[in-house]
Amino acid sequence: MVEKTKKRFRSQGHCIFCGGTGLSKEHIWSDWLKDLIPGNSEHGEYWGSMHRKSGMKDVEWTEPSSSSARQGSVLQRKVRIVCERRCNNGWMSRVVGRAKRHVERMILGQAFQIDRKEQTDLAAWIGITTIIQEFANRQGARRIPHEDRTVLMNTEAPPLSWSIWVARYTGKWWAPMGHYHIPISYSKPRTGDEPSTLSGELQLTTFTLGELLVHVFTSTQAEIIEAYRSYIGRASNSEKLQQLWPIIEDTLHWPPSSLFRDHEVDSLAFDWVERKWGARGLPGRPQERDVLRLASWLASAIQGGRDN
Ligand SMILES: [Zn+2]
Repeated sequence: MVEKTKKRFRSQGHCIFCGGTGLSKEHIWSDWLKDLIPGNSEHGEYWGSMHRKSGMKDVEWTEPSSSSARQGSVLQRKVRIVCERRCNNGWMSRVVGRAKRHVERMILGQAFQIDRKEQTDLAAWIGITTIIQEFANRQGARRIPHEDRTVLMNTEAPPLSWSIWVARYTGKWWAPMGHYHIPISYSKPRTGDEPSTLSGELQLTTFTLGELLVHVFTSTQAEIIEAYRSYIGRASNSEKLQQLWPIIEDTLHWPPSSLFRDHEVDSLAFDWVERKWGARGLPGRPQERDVLRLASWLASAIQGGRDN
């Protein structure tokens, strides 16, 4: 009887990708990473919620930023959000199987080159990782729409609206691994006879694994995507970033000749949100460097007219 109850409990909930049941408990970071990344005995988690009123320069913290140290390595953490049969042992396992050796070589800073198909596999693995991390974070941190997960599942590639950059990192602050996720929902109040309200969602994910730095930007709105891509193109360290998705090179040569340093990773992770959204005092930066970061930062903003 106990076994039966347990089984029924296990099958509760729906897969975040296919909507099916029969969920299995999975590591939030691929299990094989533990052979490449030293595990710490604890990791830090940071969060907070902010809101910006229309016309205000800076955000207001609706939940003050705070942090906690959690027992065990972040590599041991698990979630139950993906079905076992169709997704975990199906398409996700295929993606991981194809991408794994490229990820390993990037973590170790080894030289290699990959074609378009292999770049797609790598981007798909980053897509899965980015989405799982959203669900590993606190409730309310999810800004990637369900349609994007469906595209990833059906095509084994991220949607073309996603932007993924990779770089080679050798530093201390984000070593041996770090993860920072900034989810934002926004809306601009309707004024006069404007035809529609601008509202949408976006998220920025920055993570490091060994010598690999990954930066992922997604938004539900084309104009925000364009604005962000052009911001990255103008950024002072943009030549050190390799655009992985959408694919622009037939062959990706690794590693890039220039390295990303600590302050440059911080700049990539935080500057745009601080400058564009007035988000000051983000948790986890820069004073708390001694523990692994798994930050979950919740935000909602009402944008002032002059920003758009
Ligand atoms: Zn599924």
